[in-house]
Amino acid sequence: MEQKKLLEARGLTVEFPLAGHKKVHAVSDVSLDVMEHEVLALVGESGCGKSTLGKTMIRLQEPTAGEICFRGTPITGLSPKAFRDYRRQMQIVFQDPYASLNPRMTVRGIVAEPLETYHVCESKEATTERVVELLEAVGLTADHLYRYAHQFSGGQRQRVGIARAIALNPAFIVCDEPVSALDVSVQNQILNLLKDLQGRFGLTYLFISHDLSVVRFIANRVCVMFLGKLCEIGDTETVYSKPLHPYTRFLLDAIPKADPHQRRKERLLLAGELPSPVNPPAGCRFHTRCPYATEKCRTVEPQLQEVEGRKVACHIYGE
Ligand code: SF4
Repeated sequence: MEQKKLLEARGLTVEFPLAGHKKVHAVSDVSLDVMEHEVLALVGESGCGKSTLGKTMIRLQEPTAGEICFRGTPITGLSPKAFRDYRRQMQIVFQDPYASLNPRMTVRGIVAEPLETYHVCESKEATTERVVELLEAVGLTADHLYRYAHQFSGGQRQRVGIARAIALNPAFIVCDEPVSALDVSVQNQILNLLKDLQGRFGLTYLFISHDLSVVRFIANRVCVMFLGKLCEIGDTETVYSKPLHPYTRFLLDAIPKADPHQRRKERLLLAGELPSPVNPPAGCRFHTRCPYATEKCRTVEPQLQEVEGRKVACHIYGE
């Protein structure tokens, strides 16, 4: 069966102005399809623009240039009123469950807020019933209804954040580093919950993470980002079993191995520091760190091209 596109980003660029006519080039000319019912992981080091791209895909951040389509309809230029029906289809789970929940609201208030905004239920009682359903879907109970965020553990708070995100039956959820603020022992529980909800409700996730070991567990496809640009995108197993872009290889090498002695001699070492997004390098943005960089890499920007069943932006693979 042919998979349909849920979201399409075309030429998305996000820049943040700074003093003195400078700007942060957070996302630069990114085109990306998200397919219905998939988990697409967006990975890269912190500061690479992945969270900005995720927020822009659901218009929590307006792009400087480019277009986003939801089920074929352009949503980029819609007024807030016209966008309202699309907004409920697109939700987000934030990284920090401590900061993303209002400390003055009870759990009932937090989870009921989107239901009340969209007048989903006919009465207060019906809203409370729906909130209890949502809490149960994320592994909490009616006993938690009138507690405040500070009375929960980190994992429980993230469950509340997830209940809020699924309250309006969305099609698409941006999961922005949803487990990185949690203890390792709790991370697996939240990942299992997200995976379970995705299957039960037919959700599509853009799963943003700097941790590639987490991504392998949950994602169907993986998209690697470096300094505002996409480097490699393909099925998770294809990319993990044979990463082609030098940056993808570096990220995968950084995952702790069961036998570190065996892996050390194959390990790819990068030069220098992460360049600044205020002044990104010309040509391939990775060239200041890449051990394979040539003169061409310093001047000509590589484009994403089909190589061995995935797309890669690297001159090593010809064009
Ligand atoms: Fe390295 Fe050049 Fe490929 Fe960029 S294009 S990743 S600098 S080899």
